[in-house]
Amino acid sequence: MDQNLIVREMLLAIGENPDRIGLIDTPKRVTKMWKELFYGYDEFKKPIVTTFPNNEDGLVYDQMITDTGHGFSMCEHHLMPFEFTYIFGYIPNDKVLGLSKVARVVDYFAGKLQVQERLTKEIVDYLDEILEPQGIGLVLNGRHLCKSMRGVKKEGNMNTSVLRGSFRDEPETRAEFLQLTQCG
Ligand code: ZN
Repeated sequence: MDQNLIVREMLLAIGENPDRIGLIDTPKRVTKMWKELFYGYDEFKKPIVTTFPNNEDGLVYDQMITDTGHGFSMCEHHLMPFEFTYIFGYIPNDKVLGLSKVARVVDYFAGKLQVQERLTKEIVDYLDEILEPQGIGLVLNGRHLCKSMRGVKKEGNMNTSVLRGSFRDEPETRAEFLQLTQCG
């Protein structure tokens, strides 16, 4: 079915007149926006993450490396946006990664309908497989419009985390990482 027609039907369904002047180009704009928001369905757009050997200049790094950022995704239950901040961390084995890559991986997996739990896991799965680190962790704090704008109309903040390796099994490492999530 023609995507523009689907949006037109949607406008009718909520009680709008899709032929009024303000809405004439809305179907086109919305379907164009879908391509941008939902590029995470396209396997070919999955970011290629290059790593570097963890011994450049004779330095082997065995401490925690962290990165923070934020992004947007779309709730698959309500087709409403959620915004999130994240704290990513890992302790390398043989490979380290350019941290700008983390943001691209986060954006890619956020570029489709999601629930926050799965988004968190998919990002970690992908980076874990590439990095094979000693430990890896990701905490997402999301604010969901489907909670703050409708229903209970309360601030829809939600935390999800995935911790693996030493981040899960070593209490000190775990505490060091989780403490970072308190100060953000
Ligand atoms: Zn929702």
